[in-house]
Amino acid sequence: MNTDILFTNVRILDGSGALPYAGSVLVSGNRIRQVGRSTAAISPAGATVIDGAGATLMPGLCEAHTHFSWNDAATLAGIQTMPLEEHVLWCAKVAKRYLQAGWTSCVGAACAKPRLDVVIRNAINAGQIPGPRYLAASQEITVPGGLGDETLPHLPFPEFSFGVNVNGADDMRREVRRFLKYGVDSIKLNLSGDNFTPQSPADTTWMTDAEVAAAMQEVKMRGKRGVAHARSAASVKQALRHGIEIIYHASYTDTETLDLLEAAKDSVFVAPGIAILYALLNEAEPWGITRAQATAMGYQHEWDAALESLSKMHKRGIRVLPGGDYGFAFTPHCNNARDLEFFVKYLGMTPMEAIRSATLYGGQIMMRPHELGLVKDGYLADLLLVDGDPLANLAILRDPKRLLAVMKDGVFAKAPPLGDGFGRAGRGLADGAALPTWGRAA
Ligand SMILES: [Zn+2]
Repeated sequence: MNTDILFTNVRILDGSGALPYAGSVLVSGNRIRQVGRSTAAISPAGATVIDGAGATLMPGLCEAHTHFSWNDAATLAGIQTMPLEEHVLWCAKVAKRYLQAGWTSCVGAACAKPRLDVVIRNAINAGQIPGPRYLAASQEITVPGGLGDETLPHLPFPEFSFGVNVNGADDMRREVRRFLKYGVDSIKLNLSGDNFTPQSPADTTWMTDAEVAAAMQEVKMRGKRGVAHARSAASVKQALRHGIEIIYHASYTDTETLDLLEAAKDSVFVAPGIAILYALLNEAEPWGITRAQATAMGYQHEWDAALESLSKMHKRGIRVLPGGDYGFAFTPHCNNARDLEFFVKYLGMTPMEAIRSATLYGGQIMMRPHELGLVKDGYLADLLLVDGDPLANLAILRDPKRLLAVMKDGVFAKAPPLGDGFGRAGRGLADGAALPTWGRAA
């Protein structure tokens, strides 16, 4: 039986930055076999036809800073204290939601218990649960008193902590080796503090170079990746000094930091997660954080600094990617495409550049630039069918009603609606074929 799928009569937004064009796309197995630059259908030879009726066909989106295990709580403790069994189920549910919301790739940026990310990634890859392509992270590694150290003086037990505390290079090496043994794709180091934890604010940098060097020696020895929570300029420089590839936040910079980032722009990604700064300043009052409180916590200062830093990075050609810190009460999961709107409104990107940051750069940060992130012959069939033009209105990317179909690896995670213009028979179907049955049984 021929299981090829032909999207015809679509407007192809290929993710490269090129202008959209009318055409057809043939998917064979899990790959894009042919992209046709004309409205004339590619010879489908029995393929199932999806008539897009002028909808936009574009690459699946990549979330560069994902925390499946953040459970929409308002505090770190609220995330950490969820019992393990419930937490696994939560992550599985969230993974499915991301995929159906169009995020066909996600880069794990830390999980709340040691093996949550690894278990979810493995279950997705084994076909046990639906979810995006996923790179699994470790828990956050921090130092006592730093972001993620949620232990109390009278309860100094590691199980009570959001992140893993290390003291010194040997301790770091032991913890990094433990996570590498579990099978993580990346090790997450909290190099800077965070205004969310007032005892260790965003502009503090507490991990020693000896600790970071020990971590990165182990990471590189096993061919894995180091990623960093780095809000302060000193922490961004520390990350670059040690070959850390993904820098989360990078709110505070100076000219030296920007110069170093630019020099490393072919190997480094910045995923700032600015939605949480915005939300804490403007939308967190229902959870007891007024604008005055957020400002007192340093968020206005950081917001102003981050917009300046990130705008400069974008101008210098440093790759800035969407996503980050969705999964708190004030930044609930699956609104992540809001970042693209923020990039245009606050960082000076064009809508096309914002799309490219989630598609072309997405394939790059997933370490599969030769086969992921574009609508292109031979690439993996991770595709979205969108009702309307995202370049004219990026907000449609976070409207489930406008997201007509989501395909990952050649299989529909969300099948296109049947009806006028979709899946109509008689257009290129082989003689005697029944009505189209798009998608494959789950
Ligand atoms: Zn984060």
